[in-house]
Amino acid sequence: MNKNYDIENIFFKILTGKIPCDKVFESDHSLAFRDINPRAKVHVLVIPKKPYLNLEDFTLYADSLEKVDIFDCISKVVKKEKIMNDGYRVLTNIGEDGHQEVQHLHFHILGGQPLGGFIKKLLIN
Ligand code: AMP
Repeated sequence: MNKNYDIENIFFKILTGKIPCDKVFESDHSLAFRDINPRAKVHVLVIPKKPYLNLEDFTLYADSLEKVDIFDCISKVVKKEKIMNDGYRVLTNIGEDGHQEVQHLHFHILGGQPLGGFIKKLLIN
């Protein structure tokens, strides 16, 4: 486990059954559940079951089965939520600049309505 991984984070508590979640789908290596504070009609989070801090940590240390599984899980959620035809957005926030609030890798799947432009133009200087 990454030395910076904190087992007190909320998603680890969900994975260990200490707090509940609104589960959408579960596979061998991944779990999908509804975001508690949805930003769109469909807002599902997909997380690996093992403790990875972020996408970088996952890319370096997850095995191929876990990597295939998480994308397969995203695909299953998209089908289950019936957002394939109209489109959707998948994103992951990393670190401070990425405004990652929960320090366990998660992909946001957003859809069910038009999502607008990708991101507000930010001040560069
Ligand atoms: P991020 O800023 O990418 O780290 O996003 C963390 C997300 O986790 C936010 O969208 C929160 O609304 C969501 N969240 C926090 N606690 C819970 C929880 N207990 N169940 C489901 N989603 C949660």
